[in-house]
Amino acid sequence: MKTRLALFGPPGAGKGTQAYFLSERLGFTHISTGRMLRMAEREDSPLGRMAQAYTASGHLVPDDLMYDLVERALNDCGFDRFVLDGFPRTLAQARWLSAFLAKEGRALHVVIFLDLADEMIIARLSRRRVHKVTGESFHLDARPPVGVDPALIIQRADDRPESVVERLHVYRRSTQAVADYFRERGDLRRVPAAGTFDAVHDRIIRVLYEP
Ligand code: AMP
Repeated sequence: MKTRLALFGPPGAGKGTQAYFLSERLGFTHISTGRMLRMAEREDSPLGRMAQAYTASGHLVPDDLMYDLVERALNDCGFDRFVLDGFPRTLAQARWLSAFLAKEGRALHVVIFLDLADEMIIARLSRRRVHKVTGESFHLDARPPVGVDPALIIQRADDRPESVVERLHVYRRSTQAVADYFRERGDLRRVPAAGTFDAVHDRIIRVLYEP
C-alpha cells in the first residue's frame, strides 16, 4: 500500500476531511499545514502572528515559514505513513519537499489531485463549518455537526465569500505548476472529488492499493 501521500486540489475539494479519515481508519499521520497555522494563530505564537494577515485574506503564507512546520511534522512520524493536506501548494514547496524526503532516503508514493468544479467549490465552502478546538470539518447539509456544542462550531474567516474568491485565484496561479511538476515525475493521480464522501474515499483507497 502507498503510505507517503499528499492531497492536492482546490479549497473545498475535501482534502481535510479525506485526510482525517485516512488517519482515523488507516493510522496515517494527518499533516495539515492550514490547521497548524490556525492553531498557531489561536495560540498567538510568533508564527501565528506572522501568518494571520496572509491566511485571513486568502493569500499563501511565505514558503520559508512553512518549511519548519512540515519538517517537524515529517520528523515526528518517521517520514512514513503520513498524508500531507494542503502542502505543497507552490512549485518551490514541491521541489523543497522532494529534496527534503530524498535526503531521508524517501519519496512520496503519490500525489492525489482531488479535482472539483468551481460551482461545487463555492457551494461547499459557503456551507463548511469547523470545530473551534479540534479543527474537524463539517458541512451543514452533507455532514452536520450533530451532537456537538453549537458554540464550538464556527465558520473559518477565510471561508467568507471575499476570501474564497482570492483563494481560488491563488490556487489557479500555483496549481498548474505544482500539478505539472508531479505529473512529470509520474506521481500525480487525478481523483474526481464530486460525489459523496464515501465515493471519494473509495476512489482514494483504490489508488492506495494500486500496484
Ligand atoms: P487550508 O486549511 O489548507 O485551506 O489552508 C488555509 C490557509 O493557510 C491558506 O489559505 C493559506 O493562507 C495558509 N496555508 C496553508 N497551507 C499552506 C501552504 N502550503 N503554503 C502557504 N500557505 C498555506
